[in-house]
Amino acid sequence: MKQYFKNTFDAIWTVLIGMKITLKHVFVPSVTIQYPDVKPPMPERARNRLYVNMDDCIGCDQCARACPVNCITIETVNATPDDSPGLTSQGKKKALWVTKFDIDIAKCCFCSLCVYPCPTECIEMTKVYEFSEFDRNDLIYNFATLNSDEIAEKQQKFDVFLAEKEAAKLAAAKAKAEKAKADAEAKAEKKENDKPESKPE
Ligand code: SF4
Ligand code: SF4
Repeated sequence: MKQYFKNTFDAIWTVLIGMKITLKHVFVPSVTIQYPDVKPPMPERARNRLYVNMDDCIGCDQCARACPVNCITIETVNATPDDSPGLTSQGKKKALWVTKFDIDIAKCCFCSLCVYPCPTECIEMTKVYEFSEFDRNDLIYNFATLNSDEIAEKQQKFDVFLAEKEAAKLAAAKAKAEKAKADAEAKAEKKENDKPESKPE
């Protein structure tokens, strides 16, 4: 009987101690937040998602070269004079078509080193940090805007432009050589004509 009352007392005492701790926290400011409805303020550097504004990208590759883990892949095709990619929002002339701009965010170490060297400030670290995926390949972000047909067309245009430039260069060199030959022949003929005739003895 005595043990029964002791166990009952222990149970009530334990509940009271628990309630004391709970009541104490009612009057302490809350340290938890109602995530995801409420989100904590972002630190200066965080494991965030990168974004590239392709309208302003000039394909200079500086971000890719600055990346310590090589997770940015950029491919470009030279623009031809009759098919310019236009200007950036800051008025800088674009000379390249960016045919591939991939960032493998699964490899990214979120260092932001790609952001600082960009001359047009078009690559940025966003505030988005919730981007988990089931498939690792879904963490490769493709920012290039041209489709495969457009890329093939740009490449073909540049190949034709290059071939025409090379042909023009060859034609100019040939014309120059022919002119030099004609000049040399004319000079030799003039020299021959200018020779004094030998006197008969
Ligand atoms: S944040 Fe760092 S690791 Fe990620 S893409 Fe930029 S340079 Fe590379
Ligand atoms: S540094 Fe900027 S402009 Fe150059 S390729 Fe990267 S994102 Fe584009």
